[in-house]
Amino acid sequence: MISFKNVNKYFGDFHVLKNINLTINRGEVVVIIGPSGSGKSTLLRCINKLETISDGSLTVGDKEIHDKKTDINKVRQHIGMVFQHFNLYPHKTVLENITLAPINVLRKSKEEAKKTAEFYLEKVGIPNKASSYPSQLSGGQQQRVAIARALAMKPEILLFDEPTSALDPEMVGEVLDVMKALAKEGMTMVVVTHEMGFAKEVGDRIIFIDEGRILEEADPVEFFQNPQDERAKLFLSRIL
Ligand code: ADP
Ligand code: MG
Repeated sequence: MISFKNVNKYFGDFHVLKNINLTINRGEVVVIIGPSGSGKSTLLRCINKLETISDGSLTVGDKEIHDKKTDINKVRQHIGMVFQHFNLYPHKTVLENITLAPINVLRKSKEEAKKTAEFYLEKVGIPNKASSYPSQLSGGQQQRVAIARALAMKPEILLFDEPTSALDPEMVGEVLDVMKALAKEGMTMVVVTHEMGFAKEVGDRIIFIDEGRILEEADPVEFFQNPQDERAKLFLSRIL
C-alpha cells in the first residue's frame, strides 16, 4: 500500500531522512517510534506530500507520489491524517468541520455529508456534539472529532502524528480506544506515538528511527522484550 525505496530528504544541508526503505501492507498497523527530532513527522508527512522527498521513490497504491503526473489531491483523498494539535477549524461547528471536505472535495450533498458525519460521531463516541464548537469540547473529544473528520473521507490509509501527546493523561485512553477499534476493523494505519502500550497491543510492526535512519524494524513482542539496536535499547530504557 505504501512503499519507500531509498528515500532521502534534506532540509537545505540537513539530511533529515537517510535511505529509508519501508513497505506497509494493506490492513497493517505500523508504529513509528524514536527520539524527538529523529524525523518521524517528516517521514509521515512525505506520504501525503506535505513534505517532498529529495530522492528515491515513494509510492502509495500504484501512484508515485513525487511523479509530476500524479494528481496529489486525488491521492490525498485516500489518506487521512490526524495531528497532535487536532487542527479543527475553531469557528466551525463539529458538524461543519466534518462535512466540509466531503461536500467540497467529494461533492456530497449536504444531507448525505451530514448523515456520514453523524455515523462517524457515533463511532467515535460523541454522537451529541455535532452542533458544538471545538472550544466547547475537551481535548480528547476534539481529537475524536478530528478522527471522525478523517474517516468521513473514507480513507484507505490513516496517518497519526502523536495523536495523544497534547492530551491530559485521563483523555489518552478514549482516543487510543477509537484507534484500536479502527485497527481491528482492518484500517491501514501508520502511527507515530510514545504510547508503548498501544504499540505493543495494536502494532503489527514497530519501526525505530533515530537521526533519520531506520535502525530497527521488528515484531512488537520481540522489540519490547529484546531490542537489537543499541540506541533502541537506550530509548526504551528511558521511556519505559
Ligand atoms: P520528529 O517528528 O521525530 O520529532 P521531525 O520530523 O519533526 O522529527 O524533525 C526532524 C528534524 O528535521 C528536526 O531536527 C527538525 O528540527 C528538522 N526539521 C523539521 N521540519 C523542518 C523544516 N521545515 N525545515 C528545517 N528543518 C526541519
Ligand atoms: Mg514529530
